[in-house]
Amino acid sequence: MIGQQWETATGRVKRFIVALDCGHLAVYIAPPPERDDIMFCQACDVYQAVLGFVQVRKNGQSKTVNLGPAVAASFFGWTGRPNLGLILWHATSGQVPCQASFLFDWGQRSHHRLWCVQWFVPLTVTPDLSCPHCGCSGRIHSGRWFPG
Ligand SMILES: [Zn+2]
Ligand SMILES: [Zn+2]
Repeated sequence: MIGQQWETATGRVKRFIVALDCGHLAVYIAPPPERDDIMFCQACDVYQAVLGFVQVRKNGQSKTVNLGPAVAASFFGWTGRPNLGLILWHATSGQVPCQASFLFDWGQRSHHRLWCVQWFVPLTVTPDLSCPHCGCSGRIHSGRWFPG
């Protein structure tokens, strides 16, 4: 499943997978980042704000929801504030792995576009999602990805 290779801790060095403003992921070595920290995104070649940690299970694997063939979602958030948004793991039309992050609407002030979670189980999100990197789009309904 996409995304499950990520770990938070190896040995005594703690690593955090963080979701960046641009939708890419980065590895942050302990101490953990603070909200609004910025990190250099190698994919974008510019600094980006940290949106939150990718949540993981005790076995180090990300909590990933399989939405269909080669499409999955992982949630990210902060300690005490889980599920602030999701990372959509998908593939480009050329079958290259791609990722994008989407922030949920919790009534917060934000300059970001926000998405509403209708249900977490089965996962249903509105409106449709579009990847800013590869341009693929679709919707998440009843725990499935429907390409648009
Ligand atoms: Zn980036
Ligand atoms: Zn993409």
